[in-house]
Amino acid sequence: MAILTTAAPMATEALLGLYKRAPIELVRGEGVELFDAEGRAYLDFTAGIAVNALGYGDEGLREAIHAAADGLLHVSNLFRTAPGEQLAARLVELSFAEKVFFCNSGAEANEGAFKFARKWARNTVGAAKTDIIALRGAFHGRLFASLAATDRPSYRAPFRPLAGGVSIVERDIDDLAIVLDPETVAAVILEPVQGEGGVRVLDAGFVRELRALTKERQVALIFDEIQCGLGRTGTLFAYEQLGVEPDMMTLAKPLAGGLPMGAVLLNGPIASVMNAGDHGTTFGGGPFVASVALHVLERVADPTLLSHVKASGSWFGDQLRAIGGRTGRVRALRGLGFMWGMDVSEPAGDVVARARDAGLLILTAGDHTLRFLPPLVMSREDLQRGLTILEQIL
Ligand SMILES: *Cc1c(COP(=O)(O)O)cnc(C)c1O
Repeated sequence: MAILTTAAPMATEALLGLYKRAPIELVRGEGVELFDAEGRAYLDFTAGIAVNALGYGDEGLREAIHAAADGLLHVSNLFRTAPGEQLAARLVELSFAEKVFFCNSGAEANEGAFKFARKWARNTVGAAKTDIIALRGAFHGRLFASLAATDRPSYRAPFRPLAGGVSIVERDIDDLAIVLDPETVAAVILEPVQGEGGVRVLDAGFVRELRALTKERQVALIFDEIQCGLGRTGTLFAYEQLGVEPDMMTLAKPLAGGLPMGAVLLNGPIASVMNAGDHGTTFGGGPFVASVALHVLERVADPTLLSHVKASGSWFGDQLRAIGGRTGRVRALRGLGFMWGMDVSEPAGDVVARARDAGLLILTAGDHTLRFLPPLVMSREDLQRGLTILEQIL
């Protein structure tokens, strides 16, 4: 058995205090459970914030990592390596896209997509077509342009000025029709299911109208599926349930099974204006992460897993609704697949702490919203075990 390293007392003092960390130290994971340094088990409804789709200690993932570690780790993008080429080809086969760019995180993927949209818009229409529009409630990352596209005043205020030419508009087709000037707007970005913004499933009719509008005005439509993509909603990509395709899509969180990796998927016309030297990153799409991601992609694209997420996800939603009815503590419920948000009257952080004390890890998505993102491999029995704890602590 591996040696467990336990953080020395006060070891956190050297870490920049950017996170409100829970007062437990996690040392081990198995299946859909995590264990702290005292040996206490926690059922995991967080999946490392939608990263650990396959749970913990997965045999196939472990083998893929060991095999990848026996190969090249990194050689830079100055040379060809097979795993990144194979992963890109698989993503193209499985999606609307014709080309793929790899990077190292979600925010980086969105920043890349913004650059690609601007170059495409400049080339096709003109130099004034540079604006990027995001929606009310959006979360697209913490870098300067992705933060400008993120609707959280407290995240933004200390860091102004943010990247220019990025604005936030209501999730309303009439408002968007006014704002989407074909001469000045390069792109609209949206999450088909807003994650951090409270688990809001965008209305399919709204997204279809926006798709028609953006097409008509030559505005690139970008879907940020960093949280809702790769199986989380019960289809490989959330857009499959909307009946429309984007021009670009960004992926990250679960893509490489917990290793850092992001991707931008592009349609042909946008890809065709990008030339060597236009964008780049040292680590993006390296052979180690790409090999691991190839394994994860096959696993989350497996129809058996996807139908489990779809069926057990809607069952999970029914159970959450029933808990709301029995406890009277739930004000609203939103979600699909293994991605649910539950509004409660009391501060969500208090519920998270009580759940943790009772052996269940859950997330928030705003001050009064609980968020549940179980590993996609979680069985109904384990989901039920978590639901029972949730009902008790509510
Ligand atoms: C997490 C997330 C991001 C940012 O990803 P990082 O890897 O943290 O930079 C962007 N968009 C969405 C929808 C996310 O959930």
